[in-house]
Amino acid sequence: MPISYRSTRGAAPELGFADVVLAGLATDGGLYVPSEIPELDASLASTAPYSEMAASIMWPFVEGSIDRDDFDSMVVETYEGFSHLDVAPLLDIGHKQWLCDLSHGPTLAFKDFALQLLGRLLDHELTRRNGRVTVIGATSGDTGSAAIHALARRDRIDVVILHPEGRVSDVQRRQMTTVDAPNITNLAVQGTFDDCQDLVKEAFNDVGLRASARLAAVNSINWARVMAQTVYYVSAARRVAPDGAAVSFSVPTGNFGNVLAGWYAKHMGLSVDQLVIASNRNDVLTRVMETGELRADRVVQSLSPSMDIQVSSNFERLLFEVSGSDAKAVTELLTRFRATGAATVPAPWMDRIRDEFDAGRLDDEGTLAEIARAHAESGLLLDPHTAVGLRVGRNRRRDPDVPLIVMATAHPAKFAAAVEKATGVVPELPERAGDLLNLPERYAVVPNSLDAIRAYLPLQS
Ligand SMILES: *Cc1c(COP(=O)(O)O)cnc(C)c1O
Repeated sequence: MPISYRSTRGAAPELGFADVVLAGLATDGGLYVPSEIPELDASLASTAPYSEMAASIMWPFVEGSIDRDDFDSMVVETYEGFSHLDVAPLLDIGHKQWLCDLSHGPTLAFKDFALQLLGRLLDHELTRRNGRVTVIGATSGDTGSAAIHALARRDRIDVVILHPEGRVSDVQRRQMTTVDAPNITNLAVQGTFDDCQDLVKEAFNDVGLRASARLAAVNSINWARVMAQTVYYVSAARRVAPDGAAVSFSVPTGNFGNVLAGWYAKHMGLSVDQLVIASNRNDVLTRVMETGELRADRVVQSLSPSMDIQVSSNFERLLFEVSGSDAKAVTELLTRFRATGAATVPAPWMDRIRDEFDAGRLDDEGTLAEIARAHAESGLLLDPHTAVGLRVGRNRRRDPDVPLIVMATAHPAKFAAAVEKATGVVPELPERAGDLLNLPERYAVVPNSLDAIRAYLPLQS
């Protein structure tokens, strides 16, 4: 039986995988989650190539929507585009700690793992249906560039990406704005990432606009992203502990998309000891762990801008899962949070969350210190997000005998200013980044309002 998907708000139709990929957000404002969590194939060898593992792990989520051969070729093609043979190589940094290097995609951050696949999935489904969509997305920097590189010049897809003006790094912005393709529009919104994300949600909740512009989403509200990210948790654990012993993960996170994939991998049967949520100063996730209250503060700019988020969309999926699929209670909680900026998470849900996650924060000063320490001790250049993951992971680690795998989410050259400040060394852009610093940029600056965005959405006949 193919897995169906239901909305965390309980008032949208259950859909199959292909419809979920096209829909992004559910029509009731919820996020799609699988109605059951499949088990990992125990016969999967720890030495299997990444693509083989990926196809095997993801297949149960996809089955019924795509032919197996088509899916396997999409997966192979996706990860052939990565610059390392291992795709997500592991770096042993001593003391039973590893970095899982997720920077080998075309835009040098982990978002490529999911978006390079999602682009192909969308294209495949639109071709089958003879359809078109406009992908609208908000980005704190890395999703936008990954989406643009995955979707540029696909002729059934228009792409409109909103980024917060002046709040993404130069390399991040240029990776978006230097792509010369007729189907790409970049908008710099006068606001924060949360404002951009709200505009996207507003656009989706405008039923007329959603239909006339045929909106689709590639933000981490799209289930396919979470799904694709489960793979590197499994591949990393299998390589570090081929005997199946438990490992721990520390994951720098803001929107809760990456570490949530770790939670799903665990519930598919992966042996996981700790899942550590590593926050920067925008520590909404760490605070909810400490206080049991979900409360959005003002977003402050940090050295790890891809985590400058106070409304962590994917947390809704976890709330739904730990509530025992209580869509009504989840809807009430999130409606209150939307209206007042704060909501108390029921104690039994918090108990389950605290059972499975640890959390900690690191400010900019700590981030610079950690980058400097790693460089001085082992010559490594860490990107600031990875530094947050490593330091918080070490702080929260309970058992030094359990391998700790830190998700290294970006290449240091994407955040060169911070790395230079910490170490005095300017990290070099790898060749695959192209001639980023010299190409002309294309983007429009727009006010923080849906009406301003609307003008850029191609209406489709
Ligand atoms: C997007 C991003 C993160 C945060 O990912 P979540 O989806 O919030 O878990 C961390 N580091 C980098 C480099 C990113 O691009």
